[in-house]
Amino acid sequence: MKVSVPKESAPGETRVAIVPEVVKKLTAGGIDVVVEPGAGASAHVLDAALEQAGARLEVGGGFSGDVVAKVAPPSAEEIGRMRQGQALVGFLQPLTNGEVAQSLASAGVTAFAMEAIPRITRAQSMDALSSQATVAGYRAALIAAQELGRFFPMLTTAAGTIRPAKVLVLGAGVAGLQAIATAKRLGAVVSAFDVRSAVKEQIESLGARFVELDFGLEDAEDAGGYARALTDEEQQRQREALADVIAQMDVVISTAAVPGRRAPLLVIEDAVKRMPAGSVVVDLAAETGGNCELTESGQTVVRHEVKIVGPENLAATMPDHASQLYAKNIQSLLGLMVDDEGGLKLDFEDEVIAGACITRDGEIVHEGAKAAAGAPAA
Ligand code: NAD
Repeated sequence: MKVSVPKESAPGETRVAIVPEVVKKLTAGGIDVVVEPGAGASAHVLDAALEQAGARLEVGGGFSGDVVAKVAPPSAEEIGRMRQGQALVGFLQPLTNGEVAQSLASAGVTAFAMEAIPRITRAQSMDALSSQATVAGYRAALIAAQELGRFFPMLTTAAGTIRPAKVLVLGAGVAGLQAIATAKRLGAVVSAFDVRSAVKEQIESLGARFVELDFGLEDAEDAGGYARALTDEEQQRQREALADVIAQMDVVISTAAVPGRRAPLLVIEDAVKRMPAGSVVVDLAAETGGNCELTESGQTVVRHEVKIVGPENLAATMPDHASQLYAKNIQSLLGLMVDDEGGLKLDFEDEVIAGACITRDGEIVHEGAKAAAGAPAA
């Protein structure tokens, strides 16, 4: 089987789906790896290193494999370069990008979305949502520290004592927990809130305080381990309860998300107004509508003397390690798609392969992607 890796074409996408270490592992397993020259340049994955590890560099070869490995969803032009029966692995935004799913189905591509890999123990090494959220959470804490005109740690100096910054992290999933750990390492006093009460222990084990909000919600974890969407009334009560907590903070890092939906609105304008002048909000949910009412996606704005940062594709701001982790996720997934002789073998009885597949034989086969594409669900 041949795996090919194109250069990413989406604006601002600096990551790449392969690194030399993974080339070595794949070629040792009898898989040919073909890479578009320069594909890894922005992640400092050099052509020479890929070649030395056993990859073949081929101009225009990025879409030539039995399996194409990508990071960002393919553009229409890229889908046009794919052929019937070819497999694609990458972030495909199945729950929100119906157009991509429809085009891939029409092109006869067998597409596997990294987002749709079941989050079961066996598939942990393939969990690209987690690996990339780890990067984003770390980066968010650094942005907050950078944008704040104050120290994070407590300092006792001859010129006086500086009190530590107070940081609130909203949403303690993978990104939120990493933001908590990073802000703690920088010396801030960190507290955090999530609607899933299971994370209380995880927050506390990182040395942060779990904020107990009294708004009548027991636990909002669904059967899949994700948060369920709150009702309008629950959300309203949550926003009001949070406003009193936010008013005390120097920094809010918000990461709350519900898969396939607009990000929950948690930080209302009144809460921002009550924050001390010079405070910072870093809204990791900017791209899905924002957790803060005043966020502008891709922008940094100042409102009521508070800086509100709405970063997009944060993982791409740290492409070297983001690509290293992602390539490893791809390697693990490919491990399920290959037989003992290195041939392509797609076993749709395997719940990981079946769960991740969004298009096959000209059809959209993933229920969430069907809904996003407006196709009738089975
Ligand atoms: P996510 O990005 O979907 O959401 C981020 C966080 O926002 C979640 O913790 C969610 O509970 C929280 N949230 C949603 N609505 C909120 C609201 N109104 N107020 C406050 N917080 C809100 O989540 P994720 O980081 O992708 O992880 C979600 C779950 O998946 C977690 O339970 C995580 O432990 C689990 N997980 C399991 C595995 C595995 O077993 N293989 C791997 C990774 C993650």
